Amino acid sequence: MNCLTDMPTARAMVMNTVTTATNTATNTETPATTITADTHTRGFALIELRQVEQCLWDLSRFASVPPGADLAFVNSADTVYYSIYSSDSSNSAGPNSNSSHSCGSPPKSTSTTSSAVVQLIQGIYELNLDGAHQIDRASASRPSPLFILRNRIYTNAQLTEMCHGMVRVAAKRVTGKIRATHHGITLGRKYVEVSYRWQDLSNWVSAPLANSLSTLRSKQLHHYFMQTALNLRDQISRHPGPRYLSHRPIAALLVSATHQILAIATNTHAKNKTLHAEINLIQSFQSKQGGKLPPGSRIYTTLKPCKMCAGMIWTAAEDIRSLRVYFSEDDPGPSAKFTVLGPGTHERLRATSDPALRLLHLEERLF
Ligand SMILES: [Zn+2]
Repeated sequence: MNCLTDMPTARAMVMNTVTTATNTATNTETPATTITADTHTRGFALIELRQVEQCLWDLSRFASVPPGADLAFVNSADTVYYSIYSSDSSNSAGPNSNSSHSCGSPPKSTSTTSSAVVQLIQGIYELNLDGAHQIDRASASRPSPLFILRNRIYTNAQLTEMCHGMVRVAAKRVTGKIRATHHGITLGRKYVEVSYRWQDLSNWVSAPLANSLSTLRSKQLHHYFMQTALNLRDQISRHPGPRYLSHRPIAALLVSATHQILAIATNTHAKNKTLHAEINLIQSFQSKQGGKLPPGSRIYTTLKPCKMCAGMIWTAAEDIRSLRVYFSEDDPGPSAKFTVLGPGTHERLRATSDPALRLLHLEERLF
């Protein structure tokens, strides 16, 4: 099965608008502010916050933001890159649940499996990747995603564990719960919308028939699926190219409680640092079926999930109590040493206020 080199393009970046915005919004109750060098030196943080709030105010008026939608943005040079996320988004590949952003999610949480921050980071990595995704020549001269994402990301939403994980792995810093406020400041920025559309990656591998597995015992099943993931990993092309996969091949399977393979993915993060195998796995599943990972799902991955992937797994599971993650190889690196899946970690404590969930032991090493 040598189908990996023909793997379809996994993502499509959509850049909807490039608009030079001036602050035409008016609010007669808020006096205009003059920012001088002196006020910068006396209270830079305060001035910066006011600029951020003003930016959100401008965006919410210029960017046709639907009611209840979340915004995330990052400023680089004179350009503000922003993403709008709504559970009612026309992104058919997106999740179909609602848009609560609570960090203390109960097992059947109302958190979504994407967010404005996640969409912003993934969309920025898709900027300038290749000609097929460029809207105009001007995009070719934009700074690299890594340069843009050195700056702090802001969002009006509350941050989830998934947001924190993706920022740790693929960006630098983030601030949530920014309030749009008109301070009378003219920012004069260009605004560029980015988004990220998931696609199904599973159709380049044939899933084994669940019936043929029904006679296997639990341990044999786990080994069967892990071996399938390992076989897949060993087929990953390492040849460089515009979309070469990675210097470190990783594969992952999503398997239902009834032993159906629901999704298959490998890492493709050579250029887009968010596209780890587990991220591709979850987004591939959701592009095809929507919704959350069904109760009793198992994830088989050849490498222990990092914080980013663990955050998305945590958020994507319909019932986190019944989810299990099996991995073949431990990852002692800084992004995976202590993931949210591990018991008693700081991330786990932050991810839930439910004491029972804090003690869940979701992962197990196989082989
Ligand atoms: Zn990862």
